[in-house]
Amino acid sequence: MPTASSTRLAETVREKGIVGAGGAGFPTHIKISSPCDTVIANGAECEPLLAGDRYLLLKDYRSVISGLKLVMESTGARKGVLAIKKKETEAATVLEEELRETEGIDLFLLDNFYPAGDEFLLVYEITGRVVPEGGLPINVGCIVQNVETLHNISRAVEHNTPVTRRTLTCTGEVKTPSVVTAHIGTSFREIIGLCGGVTGGASLDEDYVIIAGGPLMGEVVTDPDTPVTKLTTGLIVLPASMDLVVEKTLPMETIIRRSRSACCQCTYCTELCPRYLLGYELYPHKIMRQVNLGLEEPEEAILNAILCSECALCETYACPMGLSPSRVNRVIKMKLKEAGYKPPSGRSSPVARDMREYRRVPSERLTVRLKLQQYEEMRLREGVLTDPRRVELLMKQHTGEPAIPVVKQGVQVEEGQLIGEIPDNRLGARVHASISGKVTFVDGARVIITREAGG
Ligand code: SF4
Ligand code: SF4
Repeated sequence: MPTASSTRLAETVREKGIVGAGGAGFPTHIKISSPCDTVIANGAECEPLLAGDRYLLLKDYRSVISGLKLVMESTGARKGVLAIKKKETEAATVLEEELRETEGIDLFLLDNFYPAGDEFLLVYEITGRVVPEGGLPINVGCIVQNVETLHNISRAVEHNTPVTRRTLTCTGEVKTPSVVTAHIGTSFREIIGLCGGVTGGASLDEDYVIIAGGPLMGEVVTDPDTPVTKLTTGLIVLPASMDLVVEKTLPMETIIRRSRSACCQCTYCTELCPRYLLGYELYPHKIMRQVNLGLEEPEEAILNAILCSECALCETYACPMGLSPSRVNRVIKMKLKEAGYKPPSGRSSPVARDMREYRRVPSERLTVRLKLQQYEEMRLREGVLTDPRRVELLMKQHTGEPAIPVVKQGVQVEEGQLIGEIPDNRLGARVHASISGKVTFVDGARVIITREAGG
């Protein structure tokens, strides 16, 4: 039963447009509405090259801890855990000191493996509980929130501030790699410009691509004028000719054709799959076999693609033939979701497989395999804040239905003002103006705000 405290917090979080900042964008007011015994703050910074969580934890750890306490109080959780990687020694020292006097919250230091930030893995590492197939952490009494989400919750409650900024890492082939606090809706081009532009005077439009997010799970974006959303964790600028980029942009027909001619059924993709190792009945090699044989009937092996986290470890690290089980799974998942398929919740009580501990993939090794170590070693400038004259705010920056614009073209809006509302009785999140200015364009998908010169 929701308590008065949980209802109050959920209402504030809904009003301020807070969504899971780790990448999935699930509306947070729904996630924090269930009672649980453990709240986990996810500061694992899963993917190589990203540093926004570490920055936030060093610069503003008190707001993260305050957000964690608020969620614990509202969900009735007796235990809070702040999880970061062991390698973050500076943050660990600061947080250990801060949490020494804090009752009910522990610091948990994770080994540096990929994908340590997958919330199912995090729950297992911290509590020893395995989320049932088709289930969520709440099914085993846990709620996991990214540290930026908790920071946003604290700002919403303590400063009445909606989500209008996003901490992101802009790195790769840029002159001054940086951690940037970006106004939501700022263009990728503007942020890359703030980071000195592309190295060697090359053209962003022709020679390079941007990966929005981390190098493994992020999407290749070819339009540099794409706007930052609440979910943009990183902008990684890479040469268009780089293997990682080429693989990410292969058309599905090519992926299937290559798989048919080259998949040797070695099973490495399954043996290293983090979800298989957690005990799930997910066998990417069997899915590949089914697809290669062109079987139309969605047998169980195929249906189990729904259990895939899309971490991309199978295609970037495990497969010796350079094939892409992860992208095949993504397409199958999309089709299954479109067809309304849901795995029966709690279908099994998985038990983590014995070899799991020995098959975790160290992040350093992954970084070398992806040829990203030169970028990993670069020093990041911090404290960069955007100052855009124009922002493009997408109405869909979250899981669920797009928000409905509630402003008209030509009106003046103030920073923080509501511009997109959740459709009645639907899953979604509100959108707020990230700068003050005039609304210069509105349609069902976006609101553009432009600030006068000198404004
Ligand atoms: S690792 Fe590659 S080659 Fe081996 S079974 Fe999986 S997809 Fe096929
Ligand atoms: S992307 Fe590959 S490795 Fe990751 S969960 Fe899915 S099948 Fe397993």
